[in-house]
Amino acid sequence: MTVLSLAQQAAQARTNSVPCRTYDADLWFAEDQASTDQAQGLCQQCPLQAACLSEALLRQEPAGVWGGELFERGQIVAAHKPKGRPRKDADEIAAVAAARLASRLVEVSQALEQDSPELAEQLSEAVTEIVGAA
Ligand code: SF4
Repeated sequence: MTVLSLAQQAAQARTNSVPCRTYDADLWFAEDQASTDQAQGLCQQCPLQAACLSEALLRQEPAGVWGGELFERGQIVAAHKPKGRPRKDADEIAAVAAARLASRLVEVSQALEQDSPELAEQLSEAVTEIVGAA
């Protein structure tokens, strides 16, 4: 057995033990907010959270919880959209969510800098693009 295959086995074991592989995966793609909140909470315990979120952002995931954030059509959203008319305070809620997201992305980018400087750089560019477009 080579050092590389041992390292690959260790990486695979780490990946197989993350919450979305040990709990029911449907939780990460649920449409109700309670299940989504539960998935987001489980992601907070995941050792791969920063990389998972960063890669999901770069892939513009169409749906699901990735890295502790809820994605819809490639964007991070604060919560599932309720059915029916939009709320009167929707703009205020969106502004709070955007500020939270920007702060979170900076944290993730900083967390990635040591382990994956290239990914951190890509994320930093994506953050600049998102903040610039807002
Ligand atoms: S952070 Fe990513 S890999 Fe970890 S549990 Fe959440 S979705 Fe799965």
